[in-house]
Amino acid sequence: MDQRFSKFETLCAQDPKVSKTTEAHKSPIYANSTFKFNTVEEGVDIFLNQPGQHVYTRYGNPGIEAVAHKIAQLETCGSELNAFGQLTSSGMAALHLSIMALVKSGDRIITQGNLYGGTTELLYKIFQAQGVDIITGDVGDELFFEKQISQKWPGNTIVLLETPANPTLQCLDISDICTKSKANNAQVIVDNTFATPLLQQPLLLGADLVIHSTTKYLHGHGLSTGGVIIGIDHSLIRSKIWECMKLVGSNSNPFDAWLINIGLKTLVLRMQKQCSTAHELAYLIIQHPKIKTVFYPGLESHPSHSIAKKQMNAFGAMISFEVGETLEDAMQFCNKLKLCSIAPSLGETDTMVLHPATMSHLKVAPEIRAHYGITDNLIRMSIGLERTEDIFEDICSALK
Ligand SMILES: *Cc1c(COP(=O)(O)O)cnc(C)c1O
Repeated sequence: MDQRFSKFETLCAQDPKVSKTTEAHKSPIYANSTFKFNTVEEGVDIFLNQPGQHVYTRYGNPGIEAVAHKIAQLETCGSELNAFGQLTSSGMAALHLSIMALVKSGDRIITQGNLYGGTTELLYKIFQAQGVDIITGDVGDELFFEKQISQKWPGNTIVLLETPANPTLQCLDISDICTKSKANNAQVIVDNTFATPLLQQPLLLGADLVIHSTTKYLHGHGLSTGGVIIGIDHSLIRSKIWECMKLVGSNSNPFDAWLINIGLKTLVLRMQKQCSTAHELAYLIIQHPKIKTVFYPGLESHPSHSIAKKQMNAFGAMISFEVGETLEDAMQFCNKLKLCSIAPSLGETDTMVLHPATMSHLKVAPEIRAHYGITDNLIRMSIGLERTEDIFEDICSALK
C-alpha cells in the first residue's frame, strides 16, 4: 500500500475517540458487545462483578439494565418495595429463565389450563421432560387449588399464573392465591403481560416474580421482541436468574432495550385510551343481534368482574366475543374486516383480531378448548388507538 496510507488500516480498525460533549437528552444505544478496562487491575475488579460495571453485553449492558430497572420501578411504583429486573430476549425466555431458576427435577408446578399456548408447551415439552411435575387445572376454583397446594410433596412447589388469561379473560385472585401458596411454602410467578403494571402490580399482592412479554403492551408498537423478569429478592434476580441468563444467552440486546424504552414513554396514554375504547366497544357490541357472548372483565356479566375490579385499575384492552354460530361464521367475520388486521399478537397501537380455534388454540384438544370456553366462533380482539366508532363500524359491516 502507498506510504501515504500507512495509518489507514489502523484508523479503520480502531474506534474513533468520542469527545465528551453535553449529555444526550435521550438514552443512546450501547450497541457494543464488549467494554474495555484501563488496566488489568480494573478488569479484575470489574470481573469480580462490581455493581454498575460492565464486561460483555451478554453479562450486562448499560442501556439494557436501565430499561430493566425502569420496568422494575413501574411494577412497584407507589410502594416501599425495591424491585430488580432482567430484560430477556423474549417473553418465553423470561418464563423459561424464571422457572429454571426456581425448579429442579422432583419439584412441581401448579398452573391453569388457559395459559398462553407457548407457556403450556414450555411446561410440558421442556420442564416435564426434565422431571418436573406439571399440574394443570382451574386454579381459580378454590376447591381444586386448596387440594393441590396443601398436598404433601417432597420437592418445591411453584404456582404459575396468568391473569387476565387468554382468550376469555378469566381473572385469578392474585392476593388470595399468593397467601395460600405462602402458607404452603410455594413461590408464585405471575405473567402480567395482559395487564401491564399500570393496571395490576402482582408484587404488591404477594407474588415472588412477575414476567412480561414486552413484545406486547410495554413496547406497544409491534417492532420489538423482548421479555422481562421482575422481583424483590435481590439475590434471586441478580445472582440466580442473572447467572442462568448469562450462561444460556437469553439476554436482551441494546436495540430492543432502546425500543422498549421508547414504547414505555407512552404506556399510560396508550393503555388509558385503549382500555376506555375496549370498555365502550364491549357495551356496544353486546347489543348487536349477531354477537352472542362478550367476554370483557369490565362487564358485570363477566364471571371475573369482581376479581378484576378488586385487583386491577382498569379492565384491559382485550375483548373476546362469539359471532354467529359456527367456525365458518367466525372465519367469514375475520375475512370481512377492513380496518382491523388479522394478526396473532396483541398490545399494539392498531386493532388486531385473532380466531383462537384456527390460530392460537388450533393444536389444543377440542374438549380442553370447550372446557375453557374457546368455542369455534370465538373471536379475540386487541383494541388499538383508532376511534371507537371506526372499530365498531368495521365490526358491524363484517357482521352483515
Ligand atoms: C406473547 C406472550 C408470551 C410470549 O412472549 P414472546 O415475547 O412472544 O416470547 C407469554 N405470555 C403471554 C401472556 C403472551 O401474550
